[in-house]
Amino acid sequence: MNNTKYVFVTGGVTSSLGKGIIAASLAKLLQERGYSVTIQKLDPYINIDPGTLNPYEHGECYVTDDGAETDLDLGHYERFLNIPTSQANNVTTGRIYQSVIDKERKGEFLGKTVQVIPHITDEIKHRIQILGNTGDYDIVITEIGGTVGDIESLPYIEAVRQLEWELGEHNTLVIHLTLVPYLAAAGELKTKPTQHSVKMLMQSGVSPDILVCRSEHEISDDIKRKLALFCNVKKQDVIQSLDAETIYDVPNLMLKEGLDKVVLDKLKLPSDALPHMEKWNNFLQKHKNPKNCVEVGLIGKYVELHDSYKSITEAFIHAGSTHETKVNVRWIHSEELQPETIPEKLKGLNGILVAPGFGDRGIEGKIAAVQYARENNIPFFGICLGMQMAVIEYSRNVLGLAGANSTEMKKGTPHPVISLMEEQKDITNKGGTMRLGAWDCEIKENSKVFDAYNSTMISERHRHRYEFNNEYKEQIEAAGMIATGVNPKTGLVEIVEVPSHPWFVGVQYHPEYKSTVLNPHPLFVNFIKAALEQSKK
Ligand code: GLN
Repeated sequence: MNNTKYVFVTGGVTSSLGKGIIAASLAKLLQERGYSVTIQKLDPYINIDPGTLNPYEHGECYVTDDGAETDLDLGHYERFLNIPTSQANNVTTGRIYQSVIDKERKGEFLGKTVQVIPHITDEIKHRIQILGNTGDYDIVITEIGGTVGDIESLPYIEAVRQLEWELGEHNTLVIHLTLVPYLAAAGELKTKPTQHSVKMLMQSGVSPDILVCRSEHEISDDIKRKLALFCNVKKQDVIQSLDAETIYDVPNLMLKEGLDKVVLDKLKLPSDALPHMEKWNNFLQKHKNPKNCVEVGLIGKYVELHDSYKSITEAFIHAGSTHETKVNVRWIHSEELQPETIPEKLKGLNGILVAPGFGDRGIEGKIAAVQYARENNIPFFGICLGMQMAVIEYSRNVLGLAGANSTEMKKGTPHPVISLMEEQKDITNKGGTMRLGAWDCEIKENSKVFDAYNSTMISERHRHRYEFNNEYKEQIEAAGMIATGVNPKTGLVEIVEVPSHPWFVGVQYHPEYKSTVLNPHPLFVNFIKAALEQSKK
């Protein structure tokens, strides 16, 4: 038995209150006080993972080193904590049920009726404790997705109740995040929704230890006292969380409110050392006081929902801070890019990023954007599908391979410059079957990517089925697009560049997943640097 402590974060009143950011901010403060911390997200939906969800439904699908397709909150956890997460950090109801049903079929419950309580709740408790049982963490923070009162989150709340009972006082605590709305007509902050949501939690046998209250206005002492009295917590355990200018302010705001100290005191852990926020604050200082400004175009087909590209826009922020540069993103829908609209839509951009994606919707617009960037010497960054589009564009317009395409978009294309990997050809299941997670890549010196990474061997995360078709490699390289990064084992092309262009880089992997506040991704850093140079021309 180890001494890992468990903090649960539940949400009440409405969704989208930012449980993930509160959990990540608390974790950051605890980490900078010297504790080892990780964060886990439990999602109450029935998909095994969000990999099969449309980005419009759920925002970006975030991928970990071990190839798990996960909730975008895991991206926040990594960006804040600067440590990798894994499959164990994201569990869905689908996954819980799948493992219970698998066990039932194997006869592990032979003779018993398999039920939500105890079988599903036991599996949830087991999943929560997997991270703690590694012995790597002093504190595991578990965020329960959804809102208290949802039918589908009930088994999770029950599992929390049981774990609190089993692990005993000072080993667990519950933070309940709620909304304290401001009624303009009455000129007042209202506590009733919070009272109701706490009641709902208590009906399930769980009392919150700490309330974090989102609010657009300062919560007065009187209101804190009222919330404390009616929700059965101490006044100092009511923490206000005011709207922040940036999510990266939230750790400092929580420090000011004393959230981390209250948590440590309740867990009976020392809280004398103050968190070392110097590096974080140095990032913030540069992020908030930029000396320069660039505008980059993000070309994608899910641009209506910015969360679909969360890791990319956060990576811009990290890289921008490195150069003390504000990165303004111009969101451009790939379907709106036609030869006649391109000059106007892309005019004035200092950099163009063509985003990842699936399917043929909008791809001609992406190809046209690559051509514009290439011909006008605008820094270009293609990620996954964006890299594939760059290869197609080069094949069509420089090599003259008319109709060149990816077999994902056109099965019978005369020039399948992007095609399905051999091992993908017989796969019919959609979930978790792509090339996923961390793969090595060997880099050629004398390349833009070597300048960025300053290393000849890197490892990056993948999420795709189609690949650069090596049968075209010789021709494409002879025409001036060079494969500067290749998987050392399989020979698959990971990176293409056009050396005659100021900065033209396409990567088959997803660098955005590995950019963090303390380690901005080198390719984003150099892309923004190139955009900055372009802006000065
Ligand atoms: N659709 C492409 C593939 O499967 C690219 C995937 C992506 O951009 N993540 O290979």
